Amino acid sequence: MHKVSFFKSIHVKIVLIYVLLIVIALQIIGIYFSSKLEESLKENFKESITQRIDLVQYSIREELVKERVENTPTLQESLSLILLEFATEDINEILIIDNNKVLATADPDNQSIVGQRFNNDTVTRAISSEDYYENIALESGRRVWVLAAPIKDNVGPNGKVIGALYIKSDIESVFEQMKDINQIFAIGIAMSLTITVILGILFAKTITKPILDMRRQAQAMSRGNYSRKVRVYGDDEIGQLAIAFNHLTNRLQEAQSTTEAERRKLASVLSNMTDGVIATDRKGKVILINDPALNFLNVTRETTLSRPIASVLGLDQDYSFEDLIHMKESINLDYSTQDKPFILRANFSVIQKETGFVNGLITVIHDITEQEKIDMERREFVANVSHELRTPLTTMRSYLEALADGAWRDENIAPTFLNVTQTETERMIRLVNDLLNLSKMDSRDYKINKEFVEFNKFFNRIIDRFEMSKSQNVKFNRYIPDTSYFVEVDTDKLTQVIDNIISNALKYSPDGGNIRFGFTVQENMLKVMVSDDGMGIPKENVNKIFDRFYRVDRARSRAMGGTGLGLAIAKEMIEAHGGKIWAESEEGVGTTIFFTLPFELDEAGDWE
Ligand code: ADP
Repeated sequence: MHKVSFFKSIHVKIVLIYVLLIVIALQIIGIYFSSKLEESLKENFKESITQRIDLVQYSIREELVKERVENTPTLQESLSLILLEFATEDINEILIIDNNKVLATADPDNQSIVGQRFNNDTVTRAISSEDYYENIALESGRRVWVLAAPIKDNVGPNGKVIGALYIKSDIESVFEQMKDINQIFAIGIAMSLTITVILGILFAKTITKPILDMRRQAQAMSRGNYSRKVRVYGDDEIGQLAIAFNHLTNRLQEAQSTTEAERRKLASVLSNMTDGVIATDRKGKVILINDPALNFLNVTRETTLSRPIASVLGLDQDYSFEDLIHMKESINLDYSTQDKPFILRANFSVIQKETGFVNGLITVIHDITEQEKIDMERREFVANVSHELRTPLTTMRSYLEALADGAWRDENIAPTFLNVTQTETERMIRLVNDLLNLSKMDSRDYKINKEFVEFNKFFNRIIDRFEMSKSQNVKFNRYIPDTSYFVEVDTDKLTQVIDNIISNALKYSPDGGNIRFGFTVQENMLKVMVSDDGMGIPKENVNKIFDRFYRVDRARSRAMGGTGLGLAIAKEMIEAHGGKIWAESEEGVGTTIFFTLPFELDEAGDWE
């Protein structure tokens, strides 16, 4: 926020208005007061003189009309005496004029002017108007009040003017007095103005300070700081405003923290959920995308935001935003590559106002690869099981039909036929047992009963069993260390695993072939190996042999009594022990099956 310039600030405005009002008021009072005072002082001055003139006029008239006798003072002397009595300090000059000549003066040092001509405009006007005539004149820089009063021979309206009184008094003292008063007044104004300015500043501060505080508070709030509070200076309107402002701050803070908490909750929900969420605006442009969605679609937030949703999902060829809004069903997005299946399912829900106005679209994506795989496996499994059961059953049916049709009577054929049905039944029992085994392993409460065994002995014993019972011409070679190694395993299950691997090796070994048995210790694992010189497995199928019902050569395997489940069971069992199983094979050269078992080196150290 920009700073308010000095002259635009309320503070200065208030002080200026305040001072101006006071100045105007003082000016009006001053002008009125001084003019009235001046007027009154002047009136007083004139009146004091005029009142005395009335008295002296009488004496002068008496002297002027009196008959002069000898041995009495002359007219001039008598008049001078009267004037002397009359003259006071404030009177500069007082003359009696008759026929434009000075008849008498009060100034004893200036008696020479008596009898001289005296032409004065004021006197002339007073005589001609037969009334007082006054005038203010300037004499050597001082103002004087000149008054001419006619002297009549008779009081009353028919009196004849017989002379005039000329009085010049110093009125400057009145103006000087006024000047002093004005000066005092001016000092008073200056003092009161100074006090006014100081008071004005203080007064303005009481208004502007809380406003300034609120302004700072509003600025702090806009930066997200709600901890400040405006100080409340009083209970006036501004104080009330400050209280309301603080209340507003609290409410805003509460609202802000609620929104922030909600936002954080939503953000954490969105980023912690396993499903991908994409939100768009009403035009279908992406406005929000969470991390799982970014990972699923393998895109970055920067490249996705503001892009059309259909293009982000790679559906722009088939669907428009309008189509997606009306999409009731989910859409499967197949992002599988040759090496990796990856299928996503997108569900759409529209954000709509009550009026039906579409505000945006929420797309929820989840990974259904595993589910699809499971579904496919399940379908395949059911198909496989049905097929595996149907084959022996069909065989048995045809043999039993032949027997029922009379073959049972033929002593040569009947035993062979019965033998076949028996073999098929046994194979079916094996298959059902294997299936039961697998289903047990799939169930949650599948348990393995582990016990410590010396692996060297355990392995040798199984190999011995096969070596003794083998019918083929196959040589067994053992590469088993002399040091005893102990492992914690379920012996029944591990026996089943090794049995299956060895019987496979025997099944696929040629006459005169070799089978190698061995194990090594790698870090905290025991790595067991059974290797043959048999027909081998094509490279692309090596990893599939652990899948349920998978056989490289179905007919041959079945002919050999295999169910195609042996290695799948072995895999489950080894994994239940915490180990791994895999095969390495080369067609026509041989196959090696490896599996590992967890093994504690420390404990091995103790045993050693
Ligand atoms: P089966 O009952 O058919 O032996 P397995 O699960 O034990 O089922 O084996 C699956 C398939 O893996 C076999 O059908 C066979 O094609 C292949 N296989 C397993 N072991 C060997 C081996 N040692 N040499 C060649 N092929 C093998």
